Amino acid sequence: MKIGFIGLGQMGSAIAANLLAAGHELSVWNRSPEKAQPLVDTGARLAASPADAAQGEVVMTLLADDAALEAVVYGANGILGSPALHVSHSTISIALAERLTADQSDGFVSAPVFGRPAAAQGAKLFVAAAGDGKALDLCEPLFAAIGQRTFRIGDHPPAANLVKLSGNFMIMAAVEAMAEAMTLAEKGGVPPAVLLEVLTGTLFDAPVYHSYGAILLEQKFRPAGFAAPLGLKDMGLADAAATTFKVPMPILGIVRDHLRAVIAQEGDDIDWAATALAVRRAAGLG
Ligand code: NAP
Repeated sequence: MKIGFIGLGQMGSAIAANLLAAGHELSVWNRSPEKAQPLVDTGARLAASPADAAQGEVVMTLLADDAALEAVVYGANGILGSPALHVSHSTISIALAERLTADQSDGFVSAPVFGRPAAAQGAKLFVAAAGDGKALDLCEPLFAAIGQRTFRIGDHPPAANLVKLSGNFMIMAAVEAMAEAMTLAEKGGVPPAVLLEVLTGTLFDAPVYHSYGAILLEQKFRPAGFAAPLGLKDMGLADAAATTFKVPMPILGIVRDHLRAVIAQEGDDIDWAATALAVRRAAGLG
């Protein structure tokens, strides 16, 4: 299929490489063009602008936040009005997803992804996709090339973003719970590795506890797989949705503040799982 890919950050570069490997004809665009070079070296075409990347059947976007996606859609040489079906993988606000749905009434799919950069490289993402059924059918082979499973959330694109924001909130809540339990164990004289072995081997045998448990045990927060400022962005988007739908979410307030604390203390280049440091430090551990 002739497709465009816009946004070649940690996630986008890996996903675009898998689309290329699957045999698709790929045009790529990134704000900082040097990040496109490895893909161009392996057969992609460097597009001159976002609109230029959107002349095929599908254009996929994977950008940092609302402002970045707005620039690429509505800015100079943006993709609005282009012939390609826009498939948005970014984690964005419900409000922007609603706006994009209204402004691209001839076709828009929202398909945020679950999985960190390693999962993106291994084509092991989970795709949560919502949009018109025929558009989702068209995207099936593309999603199959980048992920291990696609979930269809319905025909209203913002529904997929609500699933994504809810999922990221639950990851942060799981990290918070693990960090508190591991800190309790450590101060009480039980090695956190032993605690994790018992819990992930019994009631908590889920990917989120295994993958983030390992990160917390090693305290391997750099290089960031998912940078804390992007995590804070997502908690802010979940909070806005909670206000819209009038849902008190007290745990969300805790993890959001722990993200603020760890960014203030450690800088922007730390992984979002480093909220565990805020928990440890509050308990007097280094
Ligand atoms: P990243 O490495 O920081 O990449 C961000 C991308 O957005 C880059 O291509 C960047 O371009 C572009 N960008 C930022 N501001 C822009 C602007 N104003 N105009 C145009 N382009 C702009 O981030 P990432 O980790 O790949 O994450 C990308 C998206 O995926 C985010 O929405 C994130 O929440 C979501 N996500 C991330 C993960 C993860 O584990 N990392 C997992 C699932 C979903 P430059 O190269 O020019 O800076």
